[in-house]
Amino acid sequence: MTFESLGISSYLLKALAHQNYTEPYPIQQQAIPAILKRKDVLGIAQTGSGKTAAYALPILMNLQKKELSKNRFVDVLVLVPTRELASQVREVFYSFSLALPERIKTLAVYGGVSINPQMMALQGVNILIATPGRLIELIECNAVKLSAIDTLVLDEADKMLDLGFQEEVNKILKLLPTKRQNLLFSATLSENVNEINQMILHEPLVIKIEEEKENIDLITQTAYLISNDKKGPFLRQLIITREMKQVLVFCSSTYKADNVCDKLRKNGITAQAIHSGKSQGARTEALKQFKGGSITVLVATDLIARGIDIKFLPFVINYELPRSPKDYVHRIGRTGRAESPGEAITFVAPEDEHHFKIIQKKMGKTVTMLNPKNI
Ligand code: AMP
Repeated sequence: MTFESLGISSYLLKALAHQNYTEPYPIQQQAIPAILKRKDVLGIAQTGSGKTAAYALPILMNLQKKELSKNRFVDVLVLVPTRELASQVREVFYSFSLALPERIKTLAVYGGVSINPQMMALQGVNILIATPGRLIELIECNAVKLSAIDTLVLDEADKMLDLGFQEEVNKILKLLPTKRQNLLFSATLSENVNEINQMILHEPLVIKIEEEKENIDLITQTAYLISNDKKGPFLRQLIITREMKQVLVFCSSTYKADNVCDKLRKNGITAQAIHSGKSQGARTEALKQFKGGSITVLVATDLIARGIDIKFLPFVINYELPRSPKDYVHRIGRTGRAESPGEAITFVAPEDEHHFKIIQKKMGKTVTMLNPKNI
């Protein structure tokens, strides 16, 4: 199957080729024709499935067929749970929009940064990507109007609800015109997500992409039984002896992430921490450095790591176990993507052994437990 056969225009085909999108991913094969026909879509898929392009491409094509709204009336609203995802989604829209003959203006707005530049930039925006809280602030000061929206996307809806944005989302939904296209994407169809689904989607095309299982099969998983006080030196030893050049380390708290990062730096290993306590600027910069290869280690917490897309990440290390098996799968899914094999290494303190057994059971895979001496 080709993007051309899905009805993608020649302008966008060029942009796709330029970005090395050779063949449409399964979610794109199903979603693109439906969205072009202005059907509602319910996509059960994770980051990594190609869901962003699955909705961005047909939305851009549909926009070309209509008269674009003006001033502070936006045409398309994409609601996302985190700042990182907002920037990432905007990047996808922006990179494709550059290939089009018409000027389509895209903007990402999110909290944690000053509101004034966002208010000014909203003039003439066609596609707005927003986190719910900041969007409401902008609506309240009349910087944006939602009455001309004709396509709504809720991306990572499950995360949005997990983060407690339900009330904000409901408030926003009430401000939208009733006649519109709705696209809902979520990693899981939880009860909460299903509620929204039933409330807003009209005879949707349901697409289910079983991504996690496939991804996990590509990943070599190992675990080391090690007490908490020995984890720091062991992490450093592992990075040095295995000559790791790019490694994402997970901690369960902001405090721990900073602490691990400091210790690595003191020992001459370049590292940055990324968590909710960091400013937006610091997070973007850390991610940029990590993606560009100028630092070896990125130390992250679960909340922030969700939705971060880094291609071909060779190593993920769980310095501490996540609480839920779902988060474990999500963490290790950062590696072994796009058919490149990756390695996930988990540090298990003796008191967490039982919890790790539960994670393995839920995941349906057994992980070999090694002794720290065997590296
Ligand atoms: P997403 O699930 O939207 O976060 O996309 C995951 C990654 O896959 C992104 O880095 C995209 O650039 C990439 N991608 C999406 N669709 C394709 C495709 N058809 N071919 C190659 N790469 C793709």
